[in-house]
Amino acid sequence: MIEVKNLVKKFESGEGVLLAVNNVSFSVSTGEFVAITGRSGSGKSTLMYQLGLLDHPSEGRIIIDGEDITDLPHHERTSIRLNSLGYVFQDYALLPELSAIENVLIPLLMQGLPQTEALEKAKNSLVRIGLGDRLHHLPSQLSGGQQQRVSIARAIAHDPKIIFADEPTANLDSESSLLVLKNFIELNNEGQTILMVTHEPEYAAMAHRVITLSDGEISSDKWNKIK
Ligand code: ADP
Ligand code: MG
Repeated sequence: MIEVKNLVKKFESGEGVLLAVNNVSFSVSTGEFVAITGRSGSGKSTLMYQLGLLDHPSEGRIIIDGEDITDLPHHERTSIRLNSLGYVFQDYALLPELSAIENVLIPLLMQGLPQTEALEKAKNSLVRIGLGDRLHHLPSQLSGGQQQRVSIARAIAHDPKIIFADEPTANLDSESSLLVLKNFIELNNEGQTILMVTHEPEYAAMAHRVITLSDGEISSDKWNKIK
């Protein structure tokens, strides 16, 4: 499903060139739940941004479902992001003036779905994530964990090929973090492919596979025994 070949991302600054991602190659099959871990500054977010088409790599190729998407024009990248990928960020990235269901609805309307169908999908994905009783709450009326789960509902509403999650539990207490992980495990059991960046070994251990980065390179790639 995802193939990454010799990926490099360089950042140039006054002090020279930093290789944030340094010659990384791996592939992920449909239905995998992969954790990307490593210390702060090891290149986790940078790698995920390249894979999620949120940034352009300096070198290397990214192939999704057999299609090399590395050099696609801007509008095609935008369309893949909107229609085929889902994102969950550390800070939830919800629109504060909009209710939970409206936050989930917006990207569906941007995809051109008719209003009734979009509303139905938005509601279903909030129900699926266990927030069926919070549809009309504003983000400020929800706990951090609930806000993150709204952002997961938004990420899955259009049935994406892959969900990218960058430190989804970094701002959450352990109870809310476990609920978020439970949501990911359930979605993955239903077939959803997930790539999750986390620096917390406890949460990485809940994925099928753990890829560890050090200084922009893969230092290990191991399969977990799922309990
Ligand atoms: P992680 O997510 O593992 O904490 P990052 O991918 O955010 O690490 O960063 C990897 C390295 O790249 C760090 O040294 C960071 O300072 C650097 N870096 C990240 N983004 C940029 C940027 N836009 N410009 C310059 N350097 C960056
Ligand atoms: Mg990061």
